[in-house]
Amino acid sequence: MLKTTVAVVALCACLSMSAGTKPQGDESSSLPEAARAAMKNIDAEKIRATVKYLSDDKLEGRGTGQKGGDLAANWLADQFRAYGLQPAGDNGTFFQNVKFFGITTDQRKTHFRFVPKNGEEMALKFGDNFVATNESHTETAEIDAPIVFVGYGINAPEYKWDDYKGVDLTGKVVLMLVSEPPSDDPNFFKGKALTYYGRWTYKYEEAARRGAVAAILIHKTEMASYGWEVVRNSWGGESSYLQDEKGPKLKSAGWIQMETARRLAQAAGMDVDQMMKDALSRNFKPVELPVRLKETLVSKVRPFSSRNVVAKLAGSDAQLTKQAIFYTAHYDHLGIHRDEPGDNIYNGAADNATGCGILLELARAFAAAKPRPARSVFFAAVTAEEQGLLGSKYLGLHPPVPARDISLDLNFDDIQPFGEPEQLVVSGAERTDIYPEVEKAAKEFHMTIQPDDHPEAGHFYRSDHFSFARVGVPAFSVNEGALFKGHDLAWGEEKEREYVAKRYHQPSDEYKPEMDFTADAKLAKVGFALGWAVAGAPRLAGWQPGDEFEKARGASQARAGH
Ligand SMILES: [Zn+2]
Repeated sequence: MLKTTVAVVALCACLSMSAGTKPQGDESSSLPEAARAAMKNIDAEKIRATVKYLSDDKLEGRGTGQKGGDLAANWLADQFRAYGLQPAGDNGTFFQNVKFFGITTDQRKTHFRFVPKNGEEMALKFGDNFVATNESHTETAEIDAPIVFVGYGINAPEYKWDDYKGVDLTGKVVLMLVSEPPSDDPNFFKGKALTYYGRWTYKYEEAARRGAVAAILIHKTEMASYGWEVVRNSWGGESSYLQDEKGPKLKSAGWIQMETARRLAQAAGMDVDQMMKDALSRNFKPVELPVRLKETLVSKVRPFSSRNVVAKLAGSDAQLTKQAIFYTAHYDHLGIHRDEPGDNIYNGAADNATGCGILLELARAFAAAKPRPARSVFFAAVTAEEQGLLGSKYLGLHPPVPARDISLDLNFDDIQPFGEPEQLVVSGAERTDIYPEVEKAAKEFHMTIQPDDHPEAGHFYRSDHFSFARVGVPAFSVNEGALFKGHDLAWGEEKEREYVAKRYHQPSDEYKPEMDFTADAKLAKVGFALGWAVAGAPRLAGWQPGDEFEKARGASQARAGH
């Protein structure tokens, strides 16, 4: 239904275009002259140059804590400096130092077996059947414990849902489904949309809080919304953890493939399809399987630091300059996987050299603005996004201005260079009180706002703006829909499908000369217009009443006596 509506709207837009009645996208008539003049600096070819440079093999896939990641950070700081921005990191530098533990599972020394009470044991193969990481930062973990199936592994009092039912999981292994109970009811796990409860990060956190030693997620593509390849590649290299993060940790946080789960259920005398059905009920209770996990998890533990790169343009108003808006984009990607044969550099051209290209153009354009907006504008290229939004998490917890004084964060992640987009995707913007500004910007750039095609994928919790939202700052990512000028919707959708299947989180996400960065320049301009408006608005932005993040906003402002 949704698709049909969009196609009709799109068709109308195309017709009016061909009739020549539509003005160019850059005019943005409601912006003041200073803003319009500054915005004109945004240049698609400069974004191309950034993407080409950052995704070159020389930068080795910009792995967090790897040489290539450090080179990228230095280079980004050099650009900010060249634009005349002020450093906003530690000790008068552009860098905010973030300390991590890097954990790499030693795939040869790691053994992972399911041992049923009766019948033959199953030895699994890393990568093919399972992946696992030790979150507790020790070099060796020995696990020999019973497996308990806990359904979705969710305890959500507001939805009257508790998969755990008070069962003691101390010292046990929990087996869980990815995602959350499916629903069309907006009052039950937000309907089709995924809440934070459906994210694997939540599931591991909750299992650890309950004293489990290990957690195993069952991967099912339709439920996870990404394929096994993505899990395998993301877990196949080094994973990072913030050093200053306290709280309980799992000795083994892993995934198994659907087929492996099927075999595990069989070994337990159970049926995986039935188990998944049982998990759909509020009355579900944890089930201990007559199967133990025997695992030796050997890891390389590497303490290291990586850096967020943070730059500032001071606001023009003596009072409001203490307040700020932020633009963010992660610069890290998956680095090199030295164990893998063939091309093992994960260049990350689309993900997220494109976002960095946009961030730099925003920085350059704002730096040239005369006069400047009233509030300060910060530009942050953050690290360790691919490790679980860790760089932005650190930035959100240690911002250069208090979170209560940050009006907005606009994030850019993976903006496909497919030409001129006619749809704007700003999921979560409707949860903030600046949505009318967003609608205005969309209109001025002749874009229709396209609702999230896949709310079930939980994109809102999977990109760096979430790190701002969780400390109360109104935040969302700016992205494009699938409709591009000169093409029908099916064309764009096919391009997206092809990207997800063939390049997303794979070494083939590389720069190609035929890439058309009009898309990225246009989204940079939309972001510019929006940021300009919010940076000069009379009031700080906020969340809609009752929103999940309103409480965090209120708490940060109460501390300041607002
Ligand atoms: Zn990304």
